[in-house]
Amino acid sequence: MTGCIALVVAAGRGQRFGGAMPKQYRELGGMSLVRRALLAFVAHPAVKTVRAVIHPDDRALFDASSAGLDLLEPVAGGASRQESARLGLESLEAKAPQWVLIHDAARPFVEQALISRTLAALDTAPGAVPAVAVRDTLKREAEGRVAETVSREGLWRAQTPQGFCYLEILEAHRRFSGLELTDDAAVAEKAGLGVALVEGDEDNVKVTTEEDLRRAEALLGAGEVRTGMGFDVHRLGPGDGLMLCGVSIPFESGLEGHSDADVGLHALTDAILGAIGAGDIGSHFPPGDAEWRDAPSETFLRHAGALLTALGGTVANLDLTLICEQPRVALHRAAMTGRIAEILGIDRGRVSVKGTTTERLGFLGRGEGIAAQAVATVRLPVGKVGD
Ligand code: MG
Repeated sequence: MTGCIALVVAAGRGQRFGGAMPKQYRELGGMSLVRRALLAFVAHPAVKTVRAVIHPDDRALFDASSAGLDLLEPVAGGASRQESARLGLESLEAKAPQWVLIHDAARPFVEQALISRTLAALDTAPGAVPAVAVRDTLKREAEGRVAETVSREGLWRAQTPQGFCYLEILEAHRRFSGLELTDDAAVAEKAGLGVALVEGDEDNVKVTTEEDLRRAEALLGAGEVRTGMGFDVHRLGPGDGLMLCGVSIPFESGLEGHSDADVGLHALTDAILGAIGAGDIGSHFPPGDAEWRDAPSETFLRHAGALLTALGGTVANLDLTLICEQPRVALHRAAMTGRIAEILGIDRGRVSVKGTTTERLGFLGRGEGIAAQAVATVRLPVGKVGD
């Protein structure tokens, strides 16, 4: 296999956090840390697929956190960070990707550009690590006093994702198994692999303590509120049912279109894309592509949600109006809001679906088609303004 697979290491017990729930499953702005991390890689075009390494006791938590995401089956990690990464690498042996990215689940703000920089460095080195230069003056302490000032020259703080040639990092992990090294670059260094430094991101923080979580919430909360709108129409034609907002509804005709023609999900997808300045549904899923023929439109909505999450953003609310004489939206409202919330992994209280008619006027009134308009309100962290 060519291409890149991402491993998200989420097997830690997070003792530093306290509490019953491992830190990677804690919520930040209505979404767990691990889901944010997973979505960043799901959304990246150069990443073929994503696998999480989890603690076996966390399976139910993980399933809830990853609902609706298209991932490889998770694998169980080991007793240490290093062992978990090795087990994740071993699990990819049959797939044998050319490159692998290894990311800590507790870094929820990893940006698409950082992933791209790390991958680009692998063109010329077997390993690559994003890092930020140490700017504070460093002190060594002994018995509560400063023992000495340590030069910060040439010192960097390593982040993740760390990228490697798959076969070389697998071999290195096998050779140096059991050392409890705290990142994969350290394993690569032991094996003598050249590891390139690429520009990290100060916002790509690791959430380790309650204080980190509060700071991450502040980073998210101090951002800006954006809105986007979407509008779509599909023609009604022969058929015996339609997909509306991800819900299959028996009907006397069907909606025509290249995909499953779910006019509601199309309008919502365009609204989210609009809020982050990421083009429209047609630019991501060209209607001429055979790949999208009869495609379920939840794929499109999930992709828009993943792009938003990759910016560290969250959905504040979605408001959709379906315009048609029939079917009666009120009869399906609960199912529709539930399905939309499920596809995006958000609370259903953030989703509204309304129905209206045009008093039998015009093409909608004559039942020739169904229209939908949507408004998406999203929150983006400071400095993240989309494409
Ligand atoms: Mg459409």
